[in-house]
Amino acid sequence: MYDIEAIRKDFPILSRTVYDRPLVYLDNAATTQKPREVVEAIVNEYYSVNANVHRGVHFLSQQATELHEQARERVARFVGARSSREIVFTRGTTESLNLVASSFGEGCMKAGDEVILSTMEHHSNIVPWQMLRDRKGIVIKVIPINEAGELDLEAFERLFSPRTRMVAVTHVSNVLGTVNPVKELTSIAHAHEVPILVDGAQSVPHFPVDVSDIGCDFLTFSGHKVYGPTGIGVLYGREDWLDRMPPYQGGGEMISHVTFAQTTYEQLPYKFEAGTPDYVGSNALAVALDYVSRLGMEHIAAHERELTAYAMERLGAIPGLHIYGQAREKDAVVAFNIEGIHHLDMGTLLDRLGIAVRTGHHCAQPLMERYGVEGMVRASFGLYNTCQEIDTLAEGIERVRKMF
Ligand code: PMP
Repeated sequence: MYDIEAIRKDFPILSRTVYDRPLVYLDNAATTQKPREVVEAIVNEYYSVNANVHRGVHFLSQQATELHEQARERVARFVGARSSREIVFTRGTTESLNLVASSFGEGCMKAGDEVILSTMEHHSNIVPWQMLRDRKGIVIKVIPINEAGELDLEAFERLFSPRTRMVAVTHVSNVLGTVNPVKELTSIAHAHEVPILVDGAQSVPHFPVDVSDIGCDFLTFSGHKVYGPTGIGVLYGREDWLDRMPPYQGGGEMISHVTFAQTTYEQLPYKFEAGTPDYVGSNALAVALDYVSRLGMEHIAAHERELTAYAMERLGAIPGLHIYGQAREKDAVVAFNIEGIHHLDMGTLLDRLGIAVRTGHHCAQPLMERYGVEGMVRASFGLYNTCQEIDTLAEGIERVRKMF
């Protein structure tokens, strides 16, 4: 049974008030709140284990290393990787994407080679490729979307050429909530012998994601969006690709032997992990993954599907409110505007009612341009949200609407 009241008690912050009103936290696509056991894992590790990993012969260093490497195993199992060598710890999705653009770009792309992105990408899956374009002269191609916010798969097929080297698309749009058919995208990419990167920042927290099932070559996600800490993230990469890619940064941990004449690199995944890793964060991330696994990703997905459907209906009934993103497969995000009300005014006034939503371009300015707006209001849901909170949001929007 999905006992929402018991679940909410696991998240201390949910019982606080803002402006003397109960907090209604609907900004989960930006970051999620943390269950008590994640925070305690961080505190306990600093209180009783802390030591630098991999290098020490002493007891604490070995214990910290064990926690860190067990966390890697745990992440590998969570996303269905074949081996923990395919799990690289990073600072988050953004760093994972920069790592691939930079290292794959360096090792596997030449001037004139092409990458295919989509209109609904987050800036962190656009800008690193543009930086590569400016460095190396690669070409960026973009999959268009329809008005409902779904990828145009026929147009996608037409974008392939003999110079296509990579497809990099988001699994779920952080604005539209569209769940892209990544399995189908993967088979199309592979039919052209092109690898595919899936940005899982907005999928991994919401439903089961299995890289073996999808068949993708790379997957990225952030700890802080899946109820874990900030500052830790994951890059899953197929071993055969990671082996071919040069290191991303140089330093300690990633080397096998160094002389001033030459350096040889560590094996996977350490080749991509220069410097002291966030070993406290990795352990806390594993605790977060254990937490969501205990609830059951399928149960979380079912709960959030219900919330999304309810929000679409409830907000959709408000006069003058336009929802962006009406995809058949849609997940946990509702972005909207109301005629005549600036998104920033809406967000600010909802905040005074204790409702946390996000306003602005949501790091997806090309998508804003596609819809001809400068910004939107976005409510995004997590495993602890309720239909009552959506009622509060809908009532809040109605109240704001009447002020204008
Ligand atoms: N991709 C998507 C789809 C996202 O929603 C986000 C975060 N909003 C990111 C990438 C970047 O994640 P982070 O800021 O954690 O690196």
